[in-house]
Amino acid sequence: MTSTEIKNFGIMGYPVGHSLSPQMYKSVFEAEGFINYNYIPLQVQAGKLFMAVEAIKSLDFRGVNVTIPHKTTISKYLDAIDSDALVIGAVNTVVNDGGMLTGYNTDVAGFLAALKEANFLPEDCHAAILGAGGAARAILWGLCKKRASLITIGARNPQKAQNLANDFLSYGSVQSFDWNSDDFKEMIQTADILINTTPLGMFPLVDDMPPVDLKLLPEGALVYDIIYNPIETKLLKTAKELGYPTLNGLSMLLLQGKEAYRLFTGQFPDTKIMEKTLKKILSKK
Ligand code: NAP
Repeated sequence: MTSTEIKNFGIMGYPVGHSLSPQMYKSVFEAEGFINYNYIPLQVQAGKLFMAVEAIKSLDFRGVNVTIPHKTTISKYLDAIDSDALVIGAVNTVVNDGGMLTGYNTDVAGFLAALKEANFLPEDCHAAILGAGGAARAILWGLCKKRASLITIGARNPQKAQNLANDFLSYGSVQSFDWNSDDFKEMIQTADILINTTPLGMFPLVDDMPPVDLKLLPEGALVYDIIYNPIETKLLKTAKELGYPTLNGLSMLLLQGKEAYRLFTGQFPDTKIMEKTLKKILSKK
């Protein structure tokens, strides 16, 4: 059924031209007959964020997604922050209810839904996370919510990893290491899942991978790379060759988008259409 109701959405970031979100959402709006639903890349420089947030209200945008560099700074301009986004300290989705702006973080839901689709149960698992940036925070919170028994963070900057672990100590058993240390090498020998949250291996530097000896992982450990471009990173290719099950970042991207769509419209989108669009774009990159 076709709807002529007008609703505007967008993604705020800088730069934002590389984002796959406009095509992903537009494909599903079109398929669902929302002919006047628009999704626009909004290039917003750091110093202009306040004005851009005001414009969400004055231009009556129903919602926006938020990306680098605004995910943490946008919080101070919003009226309310959802509990997940509050703990993570980052907002990637803003919903406008008649001028009242609420910030959400849908990366957590996307990450956990991707694990579920892959039939991996995070409850009681030992998870090893590579990297200590924004995505690692959302993933760490998802694992704490699911009561993982142990979360081991390994990063090139041990102080940053330590700070991240400290932020979540009251929610679960979290420890951190320099990823080149013998202690980290020992820890990953009992990991049920290894999750790369660094950009190592992302296009165009596709020959990079985090400095982890995958052979140390126990048999059957899931190797998960949240990078989605390329769909199979060097880390995943190496893991596959060694016989480990693998998971790429496409399902997290898709399922965080599904959750944002639900927050924007109150309905679940047809994720098959979104997935087809993402795969089509990524196959051309
Ligand atoms: P971020 O906040 O910048 O964090 C990146 C982390 O990786 C930091 O710990 C950083 O260490 C580390 N890192 C960066 N370059 C490195 C290098 N050359 N060697 C070693 N460590 C390095 O970025 P983010 O937002 O967390 O995103 C990270 C990745 O996740 C990106 O590839 C992004 O596309 C992907 N992602 C995917 C999804 C999805 O839905 N699939 C969602 C979010 C993010 P320092 O602190 O030492 O710089």
